[in-house]
Order: sequence, then C-alpha cells, then structure tokens
Amino acid sequence: MKYDYLIVGAGLFGATFAFLATQAGKNCLVIDKRPHIGGNVYCEKIDGINVHKYGAHIFHTSNKQIWDFVNDIVPFNRYTNCPVASAPDGKLYNLPFNMNTFYQMWGVKTPMEAMAKLEEQRKEAIDKIKADGIAEPRNLEEQALCLIGKDIYENLIKHYTEKQWGRPCTELPAFIIRRLPVRLTFDNNYFNDTYQGIPIGGYNILIEGLLKGSVIKLGVDFKDIKENWKEIANKLVFTGPIDEFFDFKLGRLDWRTVRFETVCIDSPNYQGNAVVNYTGPSTPWTRIIEHKHFESFGDSVYQNPKTVISREYSTEFQPGMEPYYPVNDERNNNLAEEYRQLAAKEDDVIFGGRLAEYKYYDMAPVIAKAFEAWKSR
Ligand code: UDP
Repeated sequence: MKYDYLIVGAGLFGATFAFLATQAGKNCLVIDKRPHIGGNVYCEKIDGINVHKYGAHIFHTSNKQIWDFVNDIVPFNRYTNCPVASAPDGKLYNLPFNMNTFYQMWGVKTPMEAMAKLEEQRKEAIDKIKADGIAEPRNLEEQALCLIGKDIYENLIKHYTEKQWGRPCTELPAFIIRRLPVRLTFDNNYFNDTYQGIPIGGYNILIEGLLKGSVIKLGVDFKDIKENWKEIANKLVFTGPIDEFFDFKLGRLDWRTVRFETVCIDSPNYQGNAVVNYTGPSTPWTRIIEHKHFESFGDSVYQNPKTVISREYSTEFQPGMEPYYPVNDERNNNLAEEYRQLAAKEDDVIFGGRLAEYKYYDMAPVIAKAFEAWKSR
C-alpha cells in the first residue's frame, strides 16, 4: 500500500500536518530518527515530573484559532513565564525588562522616573547612530543599546547573548533582541501574547493527539529510505534540516545547539521559578530550568518531595549533534535562501518547521505554518 504522505519528523510541524491530513481522510506514515515522537517538545517523566528534555517549551500565542486547536487536543494550564535573571552584579532581576527590573537596577519607582533614566541610558547609542547617519541599528549590540541602554545591556543582555550564540553581539542580527518586550508597567510576563500555558500532563499528550490515526515508525533515518521514498508515498513532508535534504551540496548551514545537564534533587524547590537566566560571563550555563514549576503552582510544588533541574549550555553545532537554533547571520541567511530556492523546485515535497525553513520559530507559528502548508498543498 502506498501512503498519501510520508512525513519526515514527528515534531510539531510534522504532527500537525499529519493531523490535518488524517482528518481529511488521507493516510500518513510519520518517521523520526529519534526513538520518540515530539521532536524538541518531547518530555521525559523523571520522579513524576515532565522534564522538557530538549529545553523549556512554553506555548504562547495571540491566535485564537491555534490556541483553540491545541486546547481541543489537550487542555493547557495557566503557566505564565516570568523568568528571573541572576546577574553578574550578584543581584536577581525580573525579566522581561519592566518596572520591576528598572526599580531593581536604578531604584526608580514610577514610569516617569524610569522613562527619564532610560532616555539618559539610551542617549549615547541613539546619538551615535544619528551621527553615523544610519537609519536602523545594524546589529544586536546597537539595537539593545538603543532600546534599553548601557546598564541593562551589560548586566542582562551582553554575556547571556554571547553565551547563547557564541558570537559577539556586534555580529548578531538586531531582531533577536526585539523578541523581548520592554515595558513601563510592573508586569513580569515574558510574553505579550493573549494565551499562554503548558499542556496539562505534558507535551507528549499533545503530540500523541496530533498523531492519532497516523502510522509511526521511530528510529528510522530518512537518509536510509531517501532513494525510494516515492515507492512509499505520493507526497513527502520534510521537517529535517534543509541542507541535509540536499546532501549539503551548497555547503553546510550553521546551527546553535544546546546541551543539558539534568540533575534530580532530593528537595522540593530548588530555585522557586521555572526559569532562571544566568546573565554573567563567569557561569558557563545560560539558564537553569526547574521543570516542576511548569506544571505545579503554589503549595502543590511541595507535594512532590523531589525536583529536577537542567543546566543549559549553548554550543556550536557539529555534525551528529541535534540542531536547535538557526544562526541568522548574513552568510547563513543567504545560504538558506539558496536552499529554499532549490526546495521550491521540488514539486512533491513540502518543507516545513524550524529546521527545514531555517527560521527561528516559536511553537504556535510552526503550527500556523503547518495549517498553511496543508491548505496550499
Ligand atoms: N536575552 C538576553 N538576556 C536574557 C534573556 C534573553 O539578552 O536574560 C536575549 C538573548 O539575545 C536571546 C534573546 O534575548 O537570544 C531571545 O531570548 P528568548 O528567551 O526569546 O530565547 P529562546 O527562549 O528562544 O531561547
């Protein structure tokens, strides 16, 4: 029997596409080279806690259709991401940059005072940009200095970003830092979106729901069946790295990858928050995730006497590692674009997701993209 779709990759894009195809009466074979479904949203249960094995995944969107779609599969909890930064000056700061951060940094108590301080902090960078006759900040450093000024840049942005990306801030694109809100309210919610949460019971339930009705084969590498995929299915949905699909014939794309040191601790509450960022140069990890706080709130944190934490280290991708983040510098963006042009010529193949599009996507936009891909198939 021939499948309608062979879907390579059981992550969010592949699983959503499989769901939509199955609903429309098509049959799908989903393969993944890993031994589990879910791609990077996969969770592993350790000591009764859903451990985000490939890093913290916090679902957030303002798109009601997407929110309803995922909640119909599994209800989401009320988790709201309020990360804390442990800074090189030894203090803790609230993120994203808001009145709490400004109070902690400068002692300013009102939005007016904060605005005046911000203006003073940003002046130098803005004047420099004007003097150089540039319309827009050219890199992350210039963008951050124009947005938030020197004190916050040096304490909360520079080292964290350089650890995360392994490149100086002057060589990184400005848009990365524009992901973070700057607010003149006492609001520690990291996201501006209307809806936010974590699937109750974990992300695996979401993926299992999306893949219901599909045939799943794990531990299968597309490389091994690439030559004869057309005998298996009429169409291919490819969610792996786009350069790999084309056997790297134009060159290799760079990625950042993350490594986790996961530790089980015999105590109920290690850091009192799901995410603590380490924004100084002397700590080699970028952040510590305490997984139970994604799913237990208030007193229920203490119902489990144990906790699990992951220290996150960011490193440059080497072949054989898991790619995580596209490196959106000029060389890589240009190369990705060339690969996309090759991809557009592949009539029977749909490319989608963070790896195949080489885009820094959050989860909800990936689902939205899968909807689009299904509609325009
Ligand atoms: N960032 C920072 N300090 C922080 C948190 C984030 O400078 O404490 C910057 C950093 O450049 C990072 C970007 O903001 O790459 C985006 O952060 P986000 O939390 O969105 O990254 P993700 O969760 O996707 O890893």
